Formats: sequence, structure tokens, C-alpha cells
Amino acid sequence: MNQHVKAEIAEPVHIRPTATEDVVRLVGLKRSFGATAALDGVSLTVRKGEILGIIGRSGAGKSTLIRCLNGLERPDSGQVFIESREIGRLSERDLQPLRRRIGMVFQHFNLLSAKTVEENVALPLKIEGKPKAERLARAAELLQLVGLSEKAKAYPASLSGGQKQRVGIARALAARPALLLSDEATSALDPETTRSILALLKDINSRLGLTILLITHEMEVIRSIADRVAVIDAGRIVEEGAVWQVFADPKSEITRSLLGAIRPQLPPEIAGRLVAGEGAETILKVDVAGDAARGPLLSDLSASVPGPIRLVHGGIDHVQQQPVGTLFLAVPDSGGLAQTIAFLKDRGARVEVLGHVAGPV
Ligand code: ADP
Repeated sequence: MNQHVKAEIAEPVHIRPTATEDVVRLVGLKRSFGATAALDGVSLTVRKGEILGIIGRSGAGKSTLIRCLNGLERPDSGQVFIESREIGRLSERDLQPLRRRIGMVFQHFNLLSAKTVEENVALPLKIEGKPKAERLARAAELLQLVGLSEKAKAYPASLSGGQKQRVGIARALAARPALLLSDEATSALDPETTRSILALLKDINSRLGLTILLITHEMEVIRSIADRVAVIDAGRIVEEGAVWQVFADPKSEITRSLLGAIRPQLPPEIAGRLVAGEGAETILKVDVAGDAARGPLLSDLSASVPGPIRLVHGGIDHVQQQPVGTLFLAVPDSGGLAQTIAFLKDRGARVEVLGHVAGPV
């Protein structure tokens, strides 16, 4: 028997090959609690080097997904692969080393208050049985990475929320995981600290090529640093794609509603005046993205359509370096509406007639 054949036979049957670039692969995960399907057939892949965001409201199934991913919960059916190894049939003992391939960052930091910052960071290595000198050297390296070298001997109680989370991130990286799993890591932080923690995660992702899975209920977190987003609702992935594309053209109602918090909305004073029949002006909602948002859209529109067209609200945002815009335009009902809509659609915009207003807004 040659070496090659021997190796194939030696491989346990439950290890199924997957694309080498996939760090995590979930296939048809189902988990119910009584009549509640917390996970109702979730299939998802986290690719090596990417930042994937999973967003959903409270009760959508995010925590159950995390527990299935790190083996704390067994799904009723479906499979979890971590770096091509299916965890479902592993014993608790065999699961341990695989679980360590996932470094976790928590909303409430979960630091040990009786241990110093460097001891907290080095804890995963202590559990692995690494010698003290190696643990401390790694902790020093990581504290430098997260900008907290001067706090090595401090205790968690003396740190700000943002500093605690930096320690949490350093600790999650200690055992050189394949995946950093951030579970609402910025939900307890103020907006400015949130920005600095997200910038740190993005920096670690680009400098170390670290794969990150972000679990959040906030679109702003997804917008800031994720490459791809998966939207979970009632235990199902209802939408998935590159972040800028999902922002530009959300397909599901839940995605539109989650985006509502950070995308321009028609101001209530205009919305309150909308009527169905003809008025003085029609209010249009115009969504543009990518190439459609790069050109001189409004000046071209004015040049080709009679009557004054006014921008009443909205603007262009930039998501993953792509322009994504929502413009609210007022077009005179006296003429030019059909032409305006045709012009905008021809330029690749999505146009929705929201209604009419009796007088100028
Ligand atoms: P999320 O983390 O997105 O808030 P969860 O995964 O915690 O969502 O919950 C998904 C659904 O499953 C919810 O309806 C929740 O009430 C239910 N659920 C989760 N865990 C349990 C449990 N241990 N027992 C009963 N119901 C549960």
C-alpha cells in the first residue's frame, strides 16, 4: 500500500473536504426550542480573510447560531465545518482544540477582574499549557497591537470600556485563532469608542489577514467594516451579499427596515403632507449606486427635463468605497414627471413615486 492510499484510508469519514479558503461553513443548520425554530435551515460560509457581518433583530437566532458554531449547542440537523472539519460528531475532548480556533470577543468583555491585563490576555495560552515566558511574550506583543502596552500590569477595573474591549480582542487573538468571532462587541460602547474598536478590528483584518465574523444588530457596524453581510430573521438567512450591494438594493423588508436607521428617510414634515392625488409637486425617492451615482446625475437631469427639479433631502454615502445614494426630489406636477422618471431609470436609478404635495415643500 502506498503512502497516498494509506493517508486516504486513515482520514475519518466525517471529515469532508471543503474549499480550502472557507474558515467556517454552515450547511442547513436547524435548531428548535419547542415550537420555536431558532435556526430554520441556515447555510453560510465565512471565507478566509474576509469580514462577514451577520445582522438580525433580537430573537432572530444569532446567539443560537454562535452556540452551534462553537459547539456549545448541537443543532437538530445540519453541519458545522471549521476549517473543513465537521464538528458535529466530535467528542467534547476532540472539540476543544477546534473550539480554540475561534477567538471570541463579547459585548461585556468577560475579563477576569482578579487578574491583570497581561494575565487576562495570556489566559488562553495558560489553558493550552504554554510556558509562562512564552505567554507573557505573546501578551506583550498583542497589547502592543491593540495599543495598550502601558496597561499590562493594570487591573480591568481601572480601564475604560474601550480599553477593556481592546484587552478582550488581544485575549481572543492569543492562541492565533483562524476566526475572530465578535458578538455585539461594540454594543455596550459609546459611538466614538465604537468607531475606534471597529477601526482596530479592520486594521487587524487587513494587517494580519484575520478572518472576522461580526454578530450585530446595528447596520452602522456592518457599514463601517464588513465586506459581506448576511441578514438573519426568524432563523433564516433572508439576504446575503457584498455590503455596498445590499445597501444599494436591499431585497427583503427586514433589511430595508434595519437600513432605515442609517439611510436617508423622507423627513416627517414632508411625509406628513403627502397626498395620493395630484398636487403642486410629486415627491420621488431615487436610489442610485455605483456608476449611476458617479456622474453629474442632477445637472444632466435638469438639462434634459423641463421645469425646476429640486433636491429636498438625501445624499450620497460611501460604502466599501462605492457611492450609494438616496435622493428625494420634488418634480412639478405641471409637466416633466414621466420624462424625469424615464431619464433616471435609464441612468440605472431606482425610482419610487412617494406621493404629491399641495404646495412647495
Ligand atoms: P438572538 O441572539 O438573535 O436574539 P436567539 O438565538 O437568542 O436570538 O433566539 C432565537 C429564538 O430562539 C428566540 O425566539 C428565542 O426565544 C429562542 N430560544 C433561544 N434559546 C432558547 C432556549 N434555550 N430555550 C427556549 N427558547 C430559546
